[in-house]
Amino acid sequence: MKVLRVNMHRLEATWEPVPVEYEPFGGRALIAKILLTEVPPQCEPLGPHNKLILAPGLLGGTNLSSSSRLSVGGKSPLTGGVKEANCGGDAGSGLARLGVKVVVVEGQPEDGHWYLLRISQQGAELLPADDWRGLGTYATVARAREQWGDHCTVISIGPAGEMRMTAAGVACTGYGEQVSRMAARGGLGAVMGSKGLKAVVLDASGGEAPPLAEPELFRTAARRFARELAENPRTGRQGSMHLYGTSAIVEAVNEMGAFPTRNFREGRFEEVENLSGPRLREITLARGGRVGTRCMAHCVIACCNQFVDPEGNPVVATLQYETIGMLGANLGIGTLDEVARLNRLCNDLGLDSIETGAALGIAAEAGLVRFGDTAGFEALLNEVAAGSMLGRVLGQGAVITGRVLGISRVPAAKGQAMPAYDPRALKGNGVTYATSPMGADHTAGNAFGIREKVNPLAATGQCEASLQLQLDVIMLDSTGLCLFARPPVFADPQLMVDLINGRFGWGWSVADLQEYKKTVLKMELAFNRQAGFTPADDRIPEYMKREPLPPHNTVFDVPDAELDGIFSAL
Ligand code: SF4
Repeated sequence: MKVLRVNMHRLEATWEPVPVEYEPFGGRALIAKILLTEVPPQCEPLGPHNKLILAPGLLGGTNLSSSSRLSVGGKSPLTGGVKEANCGGDAGSGLARLGVKVVVVEGQPEDGHWYLLRISQQGAELLPADDWRGLGTYATVARAREQWGDHCTVISIGPAGEMRMTAAGVACTGYGEQVSRMAARGGLGAVMGSKGLKAVVLDASGGEAPPLAEPELFRTAARRFARELAENPRTGRQGSMHLYGTSAIVEAVNEMGAFPTRNFREGRFEEVENLSGPRLREITLARGGRVGTRCMAHCVIACCNQFVDPEGNPVVATLQYETIGMLGANLGIGTLDEVARLNRLCNDLGLDSIETGAALGIAAEAGLVRFGDTAGFEALLNEVAAGSMLGRVLGQGAVITGRVLGISRVPAAKGQAMPAYDPRALKGNGVTYATSPMGADHTAGNAFGIREKVNPLAATGQCEASLQLQLDVIMLDSTGLCLFARPPVFADPQLMVDLINGRFGWGWSVADLQEYKKTVLKMELAFNRQAGFTPADDRIPEYMKREPLPPHNTVFDVPDAELDGIFSAL
């Protein structure tokens, strides 16, 4: 495989052999390694010394189910620390099949112009793209496909990324109608915008699955992986993930009292039934939309949907739990149609729906709009699109919005908004939000679903649970595996070892796998330390320690000393 290095100052795309020290890494792990090796931790995130990194996982491009997510990384302009956000779709597979281990975008154009990066079997080239400026992500995809064919994969930013808003993500196309999958978090869309890069257009035709060092071992493990996913009561054909997608958990999170409602004021939403997985499935099918679709080839689970309006016109693919929580209950909005409309706007602008939902919730708390007033929230998103001063404030995310509007109830950790699990009723997630080098990010170690092991309302046991989850998820993010495909490899780490050994022939043991996870986490922590983070950054907002959350009326009470010690055993 090769490294594609794209210098936006010299406007050159060059191929390099993979440095030997990068070889064992992929996806999130490779991002950590490159950041620590090549990016000064104290650099300005939107300046020339930061890098935008696009990396398939170690297992990307193979036929393994659910394994071709794309990791996007860089120093986050939102948190100021290490950042990896990943998305489904076909970019991870496409890059891997073209033999690209990683794309490293560095420098900045001097001329203020915009560019497209086109990658195919013939090579890589930068093309002028000033006339693509201002296009939403949907129009960007449509134009790229008109020019280069429907089969091309498009990784792009919308106007929010162009305006270097720190709530901006990176959008990626996927299988079928999946046009706007977001590597949403951490403001990486702004990093891409700071490089003058509007889009990467990938044509993987002629690419091949990467070689297998031990084909029989890999294929046996891959078959077992797919079989166990298919037989699992959650991920199989009759499972909730396939039937309802991530919206399957809406009612469960609400029931546990952790569903953020009206800017994290309450943990249960009175209109939850209208936002639930069964409701999403019912109205989608009744209108001729689709459920049980997939974002990438070979995924056994197929958790996606194409949500359509009452006339049957596509609105978004796919409508997900986090968006339903943050653009729904958190804004006091109780219909999926209204949530989907806001979601579509966020996708098109290239905004993270979690960060944006939190910023809009703060705007409502400040009295700029009423909770439940969907038209009012649309008007605020139109301010973002217009680049007005108010829009630019909202586009900077929850913390800046709170500061400008004088609101101290800001649900964020390390500068990044919390996803749709209130940490006062799901304290394991509170520990992850506070301590993960990624900031408030549920994908860094989501304790939802482990209640049989740890009481989500108790202060005890949360750090141990969070640490284990934080370590385990690193392996998913570094191999390109979807978080939803975790059951087989979490249940038996040997399965992951067999997949790695089958692909690379490294002869790993389970102990090597555990050591690898620690190595990656230590690299991320080291980058953040060098960027200036201290234990004081590993905290939940103060108001969540004193303001009880209905209905359980609990506060976040995991002691600071435990948070400070969470990584001591690494
Ligand atoms: S489970 Fe869903 S999100 Fe994950 S790879 Fe499959 S279709 Fe994509």
